[in-house]
Amino acid sequence: MAKKTIRDLNVTGKTVLVRVDFNVPMKDGEVSDDNRIRQALPTINSLIEKNGKVVLFSHLGRIKEEADKEGKSLKPVAEKLSEHLGRPVKFVPYTRGTELETAIASMQVGDVLMFENTRFEDIDGKKESKNDPELGKYWASLGDVFVNDAFGTAHREHASNVGIARNIDEVAAGLLLEKEIKFIGGAVENPDRPFYAILGGAKVSDKIGVIENLLDKADKVLIGGGMSYTFMKAQGYEIGTSLVENDKLDLAKRLLEKGKDKLVLPVDFKLTKEFAEDAEYRLGRYDDFKPDEMGLDIGDETLKRYQDMLKEAKTVVWNGPVGVFEFEKYAQGTLGILETLASLKDTSTILGGGDSAAAAISLGYEDAITHISTGGGASLEYLEGKSLPGIDAVDDK
Ligand code: ADP
Ligand code: MG
Repeated sequence: MAKKTIRDLNVTGKTVLVRVDFNVPMKDGEVSDDNRIRQALPTINSLIEKNGKVVLFSHLGRIKEEADKEGKSLKPVAEKLSEHLGRPVKFVPYTRGTELETAIASMQVGDVLMFENTRFEDIDGKKESKNDPELGKYWASLGDVFVNDAFGTAHREHASNVGIARNIDEVAAGLLLEKEIKFIGGAVENPDRPFYAILGGAKVSDKIGVIENLLDKADKVLIGGGMSYTFMKAQGYEIGTSLVENDKLDLAKRLLEKGKDKLVLPVDFKLTKEFAEDAEYRLGRYDDFKPDEMGLDIGDETLKRYQDMLKEAKTVVWNGPVGVFEFEKYAQGTLGILETLASLKDTSTILGGGDSAAAAISLGYEDAITHISTGGGASLEYLEGKSLPGIDAVDDK
């Protein structure tokens, strides 16, 4: 069922509570990567244009005890946001109480206010993270409507998403959450075909659910990265000193049987004796590993094969680098796939969060990919086909 979004809301004169994902990297008290702030701007600007009073809140980091609060205030985030919006953002350094309530009560149409890190409520019994009913109810009482735009926490049931939603009349998705639902949800539920997935990264164990689900949904699942070797060992090949999960060999066998021709493994690799940037490597095929060699990237033939397949696709979902892209030598496979995805004009290209998304942005491909997810764990769970509490809590249209 389609979800209600802010396009469907009349917020004129209303106090709109907006859960954003401003869990941004900080360095020396400053925001060091403002991607998540920029991603939230369309929703905030739209609510301002629609004459709402915008009350923003987010978590930042993990808080267990008083000492963890150090460096976790949202104040620098409010300042950064203010620069991007070109208007003041009033910051209230509390998560509840008279000062916060008075500040909200005195807001004018078009004003933006941000209150303190929602996880400051975790010190006293994990109220935020365990969705304490009193807290969700209290926060809901501060506004008229609730907008959830925090995809990064949508796989969690917290007071600041699900708790508020349960206690307020109207709940809509922000534009960012809408985008995540449209692209990730859309790819998994109703993709334009052919639909190909590329799954890489370090471990099979992190992505079992995603592989299982995409073997059902996709037309092909192309494997790369560290997880390749567990599949190869399961088939009886020598993999030398490559990354392997020996306790996942049976699972890998089962997935190979389930996947048949759908599950595509690399046929050649960059092989080296040392996990190091400066060591020599050679290209070797899947049946040609020496006992003292490890694979750190897909080889040229595999890249070419994968690129040729991807050119036929109408939908591509990618999660996890196909090599150790942190070393320039072994970034070629990942870069090559990025280049191909960037060149596909009529294909919906979707990058699941985490290291692969960060890599694509830092390598300058942000605008060439249809959708780069803002959620790591959330995008994995969504790709597994699970329903996410933060999305479920939004009203149906
Ligand atoms: P994502 O965050 O995109 O889901 P992961 O966290 O699963 O991806 O994996 C990313 C890591 O996988 C990177 O640090 C990369 O160096 C590593 N990796 C990729 N290929 C290999 C390989 N062949 N051997 C060891 N590590 C690898
Ligand atoms: Mg990762």
